[in-house]
Amino acid sequence: MLHNSARAIDMKLHLHSQTDPRRHEQEGPLIITGGEGVYVRDDAGRRYMEGMAGLWTASLGFNDARLAAVASDQFGRLANYHTFNHRSNEACIDLMDQIASVSPLAPCKIFLANSGSEANDSMIKLAWYYQAARGKPGKRRIISRKGAFHGSTVMGAALSGLPHMHRSFNMATDDILYAGKPHHYREARPGESEEEFVDRLIHELEAIILQADPDSVAAMIAEPVMGAGGVIVPPQGYFPRLRKLLDKYDILLLADEVVCGFGRTGNWFGSQTFGFVPDMFSVAKGLSSGYLPIAAVVVSDKLYQAIADEGQRNGVFGHGFTYSGHPVTSAVAAEALRIYREMDVVARARSLGERMRTRLAEALAEHPMVGEIRSVGLIAGVELVADRATGESFPAEARVGARVERACRAHGIILRNMGDVLALCPPYVIEPEQIDELVQALSFAIEDVR
Ligand code: PLP
Repeated sequence: MLHNSARAIDMKLHLHSQTDPRRHEQEGPLIITGGEGVYVRDDAGRRYMEGMAGLWTASLGFNDARLAAVASDQFGRLANYHTFNHRSNEACIDLMDQIASVSPLAPCKIFLANSGSEANDSMIKLAWYYQAARGKPGKRRIISRKGAFHGSTVMGAALSGLPHMHRSFNMATDDILYAGKPHHYREARPGESEEEFVDRLIHELEAIILQADPDSVAAMIAEPVMGAGGVIVPPQGYFPRLRKLLDKYDILLLADEVVCGFGRTGNWFGSQTFGFVPDMFSVAKGLSSGYLPIAAVVVSDKLYQAIADEGQRNGVFGHGFTYSGHPVTSAVAAEALRIYREMDVVARARSLGERMRTRLAEALAEHPMVGEIRSVGLIAGVELVADRATGESFPAEARVGARVERACRAHGIILRNMGDVLALCPPYVIEPEQIDELVQALSFAIEDVR
């Protein structure tokens, strides 16, 4: 009874994020009522292994007792305070200490926000502020990439290189330049090696910069591994070349580590896995294991010094959110980082990732519907194709990825499809045998749709 009416209310009232509204009116929601470790349970009592950690978030699974205890304790001591006008609190100080202790930028400064989109918007504002502080306010344009996802705020969506994020929104993208996607399997020319492909991407980017005028370009933003764009793992060598090119034209490099941060790619940060040092980077999602909404921007000292001088000239650094440094979200995130360090999340992501890579290769590398399996650390994408030999995609209207995603649920797992790419991003608390189950269920689901 209750469950029927909950479904009806959701179908009647809920304008869902990233969902086809009319389809939702017909199909209704998947209502999740509980979570335990790597499993979640729906309102019909079915249990699923969550192979996507929710939305690339729940690194510690769905009911970590330590995070619950810390939240409860902080609620009892100080449930709300702000960080405007020099105010601070012990929890957010502890959190910044934890972030700094793993940051590849040292010394650094940390700005706190509440979502990945806010953090990325903040990075763009900080880049503009920095350029203005150096007497270069004309440096305004931002380079992003086709296939990128940087959030759903006005700027986050404009930065995103995914057509559905722009279509019908009247999006203002005049100041955004979109570079190519570093996906060798799909974007390379026939016979082009990875090295030649990177070389071409870098030359094409240089042409974009020169055409726009380097004095009009403030920064480039990039996810080390593109998540929502289809788990695109760039060729090694791509980011060091990118960094060198941007340095040549005095353009900042901003890393969006919202998915990659905190161990996911087999290092604390994706920038370390792919061999580059950004000028600043954003984190969210795994920062609190997704338990409460929180995000951060970590800024290099060089940028901070210029920003601080400009802030002093202006009398105030005119940016910040009511919930920046919120004590409860900060306390939970600080504890999550403590747990990551205790469990040695980097080593764990590497060894579990190796298992996932091996199992995916065993189960699917030769499958006629699988074009490419790509992975690094504990994140992977499986791209489904109509013709393995030519790489030809299925027609969009066949909705093959969505059908496999549905079939996964029938086999007791939840994955996410981005078109015809199935993403795997399990919680770090998954056991090796559960990885085997996850991969087996995925291969059954692909067989079902074959
Ligand atoms: N950046 C990346 C790489 C993301 O994957 C996401 C969300 O999926 C965001 C930014 C936006 O984060 P949020 O939804 O918390 O605003």
